[in-house]
Amino acid sequence: MMIVPAVSVPVSNLTQKQESEAIMSDQNFNLDQYLEELKPLINVDCGTWTPAGVSKVADIMTEKYQGIGWQVTRHSFDEKVGPGLLATNKPEAEEYDIMLIGHLDTVFPEGTVAEWSLSQDGEKAYGPGVADMKSGQLNMFKAISQLPEDVADRLSICVCMNPDEEIGSIYSGDWLKSIASKSRYVLVAEAARADGSLVKARKGMASYKVEFNGKAAHAGNEPEKGISAITELAHWITTLNQETNFEIGTTLNFGVVKGGSAGNVVPDYASTVLDIRFWDNDDYARLEKKIQNMLENPSLRGIKIELTREAHKPAFTPNEGSEKLMALIEKTGQDMGLNITWQAVGGGSDANLTGSLGVPTIDGLGPIGGAMHSRNEFLVLDSIEPRLNLLRNVLINLSETITR
Ligand SMILES: [Zn+2]
Repeated sequence: MMIVPAVSVPVSNLTQKQESEAIMSDQNFNLDQYLEELKPLINVDCGTWTPAGVSKVADIMTEKYQGIGWQVTRHSFDEKVGPGLLATNKPEAEEYDIMLIGHLDTVFPEGTVAEWSLSQDGEKAYGPGVADMKSGQLNMFKAISQLPEDVADRLSICVCMNPDEEIGSIYSGDWLKSIASKSRYVLVAEAARADGSLVKARKGMASYKVEFNGKAAHAGNEPEKGISAITELAHWITTLNQETNFEIGTTLNFGVVKGGSAGNVVPDYASTVLDIRFWDNDDYARLEKKIQNMLENPSLRGIKIELTREAHKPAFTPNEGSEKLMALIEKTGQDMGLNITWQAVGGGSDANLTGSLGVPTIDGLGPIGGAMHSRNEFLVLDSIEPRLNLLRNVLINLSETITR
């Protein structure tokens, strides 16, 4: 189903003041209709590892963007995950003024929808992905489809919808980065925080699996012939835990430890999972060097260490460009009577990938939601319309700053 753009007056005949009033009051928003449109995006199992469901969501979004005359290109990454979509109003463009990002997947496994589907009470809607981030996905589409024609003509916009954000965009990350590197601004429509804040910064993270292979020996008869994997592991824990620095926000956590077989055996195997969070990408680079050094120079002679970095997202923090973008968003909110507040958050998103490239990036431009990744996930109903209007007005105001 295609929804007709809801701009009530032809904008071109108006003075600037009338124009800004026209774009700020969208009389045609209908919550029931919105939720009806949201339903097929929620009531489909589309966890990252359910590519068929992600593909169905991609089909729905393709139809929507094609319905407003945009070109949609489908990208396959890996058969384990669903497709990605790139929708654009300027198929010939070599660069984009604005890149919008929204992921198609959720964290919920197959079978979830049969037990838990879209529902609502007076204040909130509930359901898998209702805030993270199907409503953000729908808000992006609606904001775009309601742009005044001259604004849409002036801007080259692309919307990238990826299938694997919830597993760290391990398949789509390079694709997103390559498009971001030829975009002026990146807007990510993950949900606004529960207090309404937008997201200006996200911590970086890295996760490692470390395995230690030593040599078993009888702990009573000939302990001197053993090489204790657990002793080396303990050396790693005590050494690296000293690197935690709450002040600058670098924290290390050994979250899993396994190893050994019996009290009277020198353990020949141990493993651990190390999780690092950081604000400062340089401090992480320093730590990575230290870890490499520990790998190459073990404290015990003869021990073998295997290190696998299983996930990595750089931190993104505001630069000069994103501070200008923040000011524009604040001003846009002010003109609508919406007080814009900001949060720097610990969890990652695709904003980490684009923001760390230095491309001005703001996240949290979806409606307000919370309890993500749990069966209590919710979407605040009366935030849908103002956040949709905010996103649309930000696009309009950005179009005025862009000169060629
Ligand atoms: Zn998300």
